[in-house]
This record gives sequence, structure tokens and C-alpha cells, in this order.
Amino acid sequence: RLYNQVIELKGNIRVFCRCRPLNHDEIAKGSTSVVEFDSTQENELKIIGSDSSKKQFKFDHIFRPEDNQEAVFAQTSPLVVSVLDGFNVCIFAYGQTGTGKTFTMEGTAENRGVNYRTLEELFRVSDERSDIMKYQLFVSMLEVYNEKIKDLLVEDADQPAKKLEVKQSAEGTQEVPGLSEVPVYKTDEVWELLKSGSRARSVGSTNANELSSRSHCLLRVTVLGENLVSGQRTRSHLWLVDLAGSERVGKIEVEGERLKESQFINKSLSALGDVISALASKTAHIPYRNSKLTHILQSSLGGDCKTLMFVQISPSSSDLGETICSLNFATRVR
Ligand code: ADP
Ligand code: MG
Repeated sequence: RLYNQVIELKGNIRVFCRCRPLNHDEIAKGSTSVVEFDSTQENELKIIGSDSSKKQFKFDHIFRPEDNQEAVFAQTSPLVVSVLDGFNVCIFAYGQTGTGKTFTMEGTAENRGVNYRTLEELFRVSDERSDIMKYQLFVSMLEVYNEKIKDLLVEDADQPAKKLEVKQSAEGTQEVPGLSEVPVYKTDEVWELLKSGSRARSVGSTNANELSSRSHCLLRVTVLGENLVSGQRTRSHLWLVDLAGSERVGKIEVEGERLKESQFINKSLSALGDVISALASKTAHIPYRNSKLTHILQSSLGGDCKTLMFVQISPSSSDLGETICSLNFATRVR
């Protein structure tokens, strides 16, 4: 049976799919790839089911296992640069733990991801425009874990964590009062700053990787722009979000803290899906208030804001079920 699930470029919402390579463990265990790329249709892929049936999915763009960080950023950069034109932008990495969300967004020192490349590009373009525009860039980083907001860039780590909440400003936008905003001036300092934020993400956890897969990590770039000719000023936000792992946790093995966590994750990821699909279908009521994540992002989702979701997948036959779930989520979001 062949399904056709078409995700078209609709308005300001885009969905990219990225499939990581099979890893050594998977190869050693004899897992094979269930993802079939189309040699002629670059934005289509098929998932081969255990009964050899094929399901087809279509996205705005598909990155294959061999596509590197440069290739990913080349497709992403026009969107991130639009924050310099006064647009609010949200970029999400969605998917099961281990599919490369953090690799895509954060990357490694040798293979830097979207976050670092974005700041590099914003500095480059603002330099290019320095005759007409004056820009100031600020970076904030926060974590949402169990519906609680934590500042990841507090200067004094010994200070008790401030309790952060989402509040409506006098202008009617959603803000997080008290959240640290670090001014950034050049590319050199940015990698260390981002690293310090992601290190703060794991404080208090015995297993850094475990916690990071159960919390959402949000990097916010605030851009203040001033047109030197007209004097017009703009303030816009770019959000780069590494979401909690989307995998369903088995009901039997889960209890206590772990159960609570997975309920919060399910709730916030489905709230995000609800908001984006309501925006795509131009529904009047957008349910931003159903989770901390969507509430924080309210002013940057919808209207003329731009949204990009990376759906991260594993090619492995052992992850077939979760891969189908992620691709279905992405289909709903279109
Ligand atoms: P997630 O954040 O979704 O849990 P990670 O980003 O931690 O997943 O990726 C899991 C592992 O796979 C990491 O070791 C990462 O370096 C590797 N990886 C992910 N995507 C790729 C890719 N496209 N190419 C090479 N290695 C990758
Ligand atoms: Mg991760």
C-alpha cells in the first residue's frame, strides 16, 4: 500500500526532514536502513515497513545521511537572516532521542550546528549592512523542564535559581521578565557562550544526556535594529529550539518522576503540534496557553512570524515505529 502524505510549503511554516547515518551499534546488531530516498524527487522519501509496504512522505527539504552541517545551514540561512529585517523566527528540532536534534542545532566543535552558524551569519550580514543599519544582538538561553523555566545563562551559578514566568508586556507581547540577556559582538565569543549554556542544562542531573533528552532547550537571539536613514527601530526574536525527545515511554517501566516527566513532554509536544497546525489551517483560536513552551513562544509563532521544523529521524529498522510517529507528527503540523 502506498500513502501519499504531502507537506507543502504553506505560508510561513516549513518542515525539513533530516535522517542521520546508521551508527556502528546499529550496524553491529544487523539493523538495516528503512529509509528509501528518491533519486529524482529530492523532497520525497519512503519508509519501508516490516511487511515491506512503503509509506511516502514529502517535505520542503530532505537532508540525507551524507548531508553535512554546511548543507543544512545553506537551506536555513535565508530564514535566520530575516530576523535582521524585523521578522520573528522559530526553528525547532523535533524527534526521538538519538536522532540528531542536538547535532543539528548545537553540533560539535568540529561540526558546528545551526545555532553557532546562525550567529556567525547574523554578524556577517549586519556588517554588510552597516552603512544603513545599526544592529545590536543579545543571546538568552533557557530550559523548560517539567513546565518550569530555568535561565541557562545566569552569571553567578551559586545564586539560587530565579523563578521565571511568562508575562504579557504593556505592548501585548509575551516576555520572560528577569531572563538574562547577554550582548554579543563577535563570532569568537559565541561558541563558548553557547557551550556554557548547554553545560548549565545538565546541572543537578546525574546523567547529562538523560536530562537533556527530557527538557526543551531554547536559545533566543534578540535583534535591535535601527535604520540610520529613516531612524526606524525594530526589535525581533529568533528562537532556536532543541526539543525534548518525542519517544513514547513504555507504560509498565515508568513510574514516579519519570512518569511525570514523560507526561509533561507529551503534553508540551502535542501543544506545539496543535499550535502550528492551527496556524497552518488559519484557525481563529490558537491554543498557546496549553503549555509553557508555546506560551513562551506565543509572540514568535503566528502572524507574519516564520517557523521551521526539523524532523529528525533514524534510518534504523529498530526505530521504525518512532520514525513513523515523527513523520506523522510532521505531517499534522503542515
Ligand atoms: P538527540 O539530540 O536527538 O538525542 P544527538 O544529536 O545527541 O541526538 O545525536 C546522537 C548521536 O548521533 C550523536 O553522537 C551525534 O553526534 C550523532 N549524529 C546525529 N546526527 C548525525 C549526522 N547527521 N551525522 C553524523 N552523526 C550524527
Ligand atoms: Mg539532544
